[in-house]
Amino acid sequence: MKPFDILGTLMPTPERPILLRDLKNYLTFLKDYGYSDIPLQSGSILEPGSDKSNLSRPSTETTRQHTMAKPRTSAKPNLTLEEVREELRDCTRCNLHSTRKTIVFGSGNPHADLVFVGEGPGADEDEQGFPFVGRAGKKLTEIIEKGMKLNRERDTYICNIVKCRPPENRDPKSDEVAACNPFLIKQLQAIRPKAIVALGKPSASTLLGRTVPIMKERGTWHEYAGIPLMLTLHPAYLLRAYTLENRRNVMDDMNKVLAKLRE
Ligand code: URA
Repeated sequence: MKPFDILGTLMPTPERPILLRDLKNYLTFLKDYGYSDIPLQSGSILEPGSDKSNLSRPSTETTRQHTMAKPRTSAKPNLTLEEVREELRDCTRCNLHSTRKTIVFGSGNPHADLVFVGEGPGADEDEQGFPFVGRAGKKLTEIIEKGMKLNRERDTYICNIVKCRPPENRDPKSDEVAACNPFLIKQLQAIRPKAIVALGKPSASTLLGRTVPIMKERGTWHEYAGIPLMLTLHPAYLLRAYTLENRRNVMDDMNKVLAKLRE
């Protein structure tokens, strides 16, 4: 079997370029991250008779292992946030670059104990170059400052799973998330906070490497690369569904985070 038969035979033609770009981005990330080889179990994928269904849709466990992967060889020390920003440069790794005005890298304290991860910049963020500065941002600031009694700039760092605005505020596509994910990982490695909060389903799903039913799993603790990860509702969702129950739920989640920070 030729090495790329697998793409030719199992992957419908329109999906192939996207898969190849995801694969290239992921391999580049592994190389940057310090990997020099990829261990493959003989018979696991390429040999006839193996379970090919695993290929097109990796199991939850496999995806999670990829997200949490640790380099086994020649690991580089963590970059600083500034170095991660330099590496991103004037990024053109996905199509979002063609419609964005500004790269919205993140803002706050590079040594914060708490990091909030949102979905992606909206129109206001794209204009100003900072995350969560529009309506949802004001709600997030209120949650942090009035609800949690923290100072947004001093006590937290805020970033998104994609650094460029998706047109019409649509959800980021999987290839866009995949292209940006190495930078999110490096940001979190640079900060190494005591806790991370995923805001909404796309953020939670990206960090956990699986589709997260956010209404069911909000308020529960998980781990991201050894760091406690709390899932909660996105402030934009909260504004749309401004019920007492949703507001109470978010505050309950934030109280759990405050308790974790005090441990
Ligand atoms: N929503 C997000 O998820 N991120 C932002 O930066 C702004 C709004």
